[in-house]
Amino acid sequence: MIYFDSAASYPLLPEALDELQRCFKEHPANPSSAHLAGEAAAKKIEDARELIADAIGALPSEIVFTSGATESNNLALKSHFYEPASKDKRHLVISSIEHKCVHAVADYLQRTANVNVSLIHPNTKGIVTPEALERVLENDTSLVSVMHLNNELGTANPIEEIGALCFERGIKLHTDAAQSFLKLPIDVDDMNLDYLSLSAHKIGGPKGIGAVYIRDRRARDIEPVIHGAGQEEGLRGGTLATPLITSFGAAVKHFPAAYRKLQALQLKSHLLNRLESLGVPFQINGESIDSLFSITLPNTDVSRLLRETGRQFILATGSACSSKEIQASHVLIAIGMQRNMAERTLRISFHHTLVPDNVDRLAESMAFFTRR
Ligand SMILES: *Cc1c(COP(=O)(O)O)cnc(C)c1O
Repeated sequence: MIYFDSAASYPLLPEALDELQRCFKEHPANPSSAHLAGEAAAKKIEDARELIADAIGALPSEIVFTSGATESNNLALKSHFYEPASKDKRHLVISSIEHKCVHAVADYLQRTANVNVSLIHPNTKGIVTPEALERVLENDTSLVSVMHLNNELGTANPIEEIGALCFERGIKLHTDAAQSFLKLPIDVDDMNLDYLSLSAHKIGGPKGIGAVYIRDRRARDIEPVIHGAGQEEGLRGGTLATPLITSFGAAVKHFPAAYRKLQALQLKSHLLNRLESLGVPFQINGESIDSLFSITLPNTDVSRLLRETGRQFILATGSACSSKEIQASHVLIAIGMQRNMAERTLRISFHHTLVPDNVDRLAESMAFFTRR
């Protein structure tokens, strides 16, 4: 099977797997324990924390380990509105193309915590602009959440410009960087970020571990989402998952080389050139990066392609079946796509162990199911 769904989960890097196995074997202790073995495990965790902090220009004390980007998004948004400083500023702005979990947290805060939520929509290129944000800001806006790289379109939002606007207005900024981490440059100071969410399994690390950056965390009066026995300085309860964390660290160290290798393969232009020479009409949705993009094939029977090549190619669709009805994803709807086109849309995401021949086979299958 040829895997074209690294945006859902990137294949585990061999270095991350090695580290996972080594740590499970060599560090049985609870990293919170006061004995030598506990201290050794805690030291490994601090090394990983430093690697992650360095990669985004943060301090290690500003990094909190979580179970993944979903939990990081929960912690950032909920803690922000639970904090006494936000008592009189209850307006949250999110983009309409955020990951489902950000929409779910915003809905929850609206229902239970007296928070007003405004949505900003991307332009036709799939990009959320500072101008669109400026139009919805209110006097009581206290937090803006705009993702860095969209997980369905592969489009990047101008977080630095959005950050400058937020800074000017005294508004805090969160970005979900699960997809952009180590693919696009990130610096929390240049981007004026107050919160940032990361996930290990989007960069070749293990599932079930992530991190959230919280600016000046120690100076803040932050309420945890998971209350516990004081881990992560009281911010996130639960025994720290030493092997997952050190393996996350290994992924941070080794993903950049894997990603450079992937970029050098130029698989996207390879695929698009093949489709052109095979006479398959297509449209790319949004200004996407090379390793992740959304493609609509207007003359192709995409549902048949998925059905009949399901054992050969692992592909993500632009729509999801809810009961009987096929529904376009909220992201495709946000860029104005009609349902009949969403049904012919695929999200393709590459990883570094693919070869051009894998892409040729996909292009040929696409051509096979295309009407002429
Ligand atoms: C994958 C993903 C998430 C969820 O991350 P988990 O670590 O699986 O919880 C959130 N946001 C974006 C943009 C993602 O791509």
